[in-house]
Amino acid sequence: MIPDFALCCSEFESVGLQLSKEQYDKLSAYAKFLVEYNEKVNLTAITDPAEILRKHFIDSIFLTKFTDIPTNAAIIDVGTGAGFPSVPIKIYRPDVNITLLDSLNKRIDFLKQLCQRIEIDADFIHGRAEDYSKKPEYREKFDVSCARAVANMSLLSELCIPFVKENGCFIAMKGPNEDISLGTHAVELLGGSIERETEYKLFDEDRKIVIVRKISHTPSKYPRNSSQIKKKTL
Ligand code: SAM
Repeated sequence: MIPDFALCCSEFESVGLQLSKEQYDKLSAYAKFLVEYNEKVNLTAITDPAEILRKHFIDSIFLTKFTDIPTNAAIIDVGTGAGFPSVPIKIYRPDVNITLLDSLNKRIDFLKQLCQRIEIDADFIHGRAEDYSKKPEYREKFDVSCARAVANMSLLSELCIPFVKENGCFIAMKGPNEDISLGTHAVELLGGSIERETEYKLFDEDRKIVIVRKISHTPSKYPRNSSQIKKKTL
């Protein structure tokens, strides 16, 4: 179990966020199911409930402080793993519509069961981002694409930007040490422009978030196929 409601509220308040009892109940059920499921399927190295609260839940929800996510926004979470960051965001902002994409089916299976248990709506895609963003039903259809801990900025841009509508944004949650300027060329080729790069501390850990605005259509030659992407980043 994550810490009790009062303690969770004070953790949220310490970083300028509010938490309702309904949101708490869903996060608590999420943590319980994650820890249980993690015993048979590897989903996360973080299993201490207090750490799940800070390093998965609050870390994910903190993203909402950096950019205005429009009401009812369509969000795709690329390489979502055990649902981070978009499942905590959906719990915090029930108006948004989330699509959870991961190339590993065991993670998508977990997410389907989780969402049913905690009664949240989501769409699920088992597959590689570079295959799905070529499909007309997904290409440039999202207000926001986001990703945490998936790949370097250049590669991640190729995986995420083709999903975003013009004027929408791609949000990359990064560790403190990556040189984001190495991804600038890729961002521009894909129709984006780096709007903001913010470094911050969350519970004494260094974090970085990058907001990329989609300013023009992604040329149809992107994304390249997996083997080309692996061979050479843009
Ligand atoms: N975003 C989650 C988090 O922050 O905990 C998971 C991060 S995990 C390190 C990276 C995830 O990205 C894995 O679940 C992996 O299967 C997925 N992934 C990597 N490359 C991918 C691709 N090209 N398309 C879809 N999923 C991908």
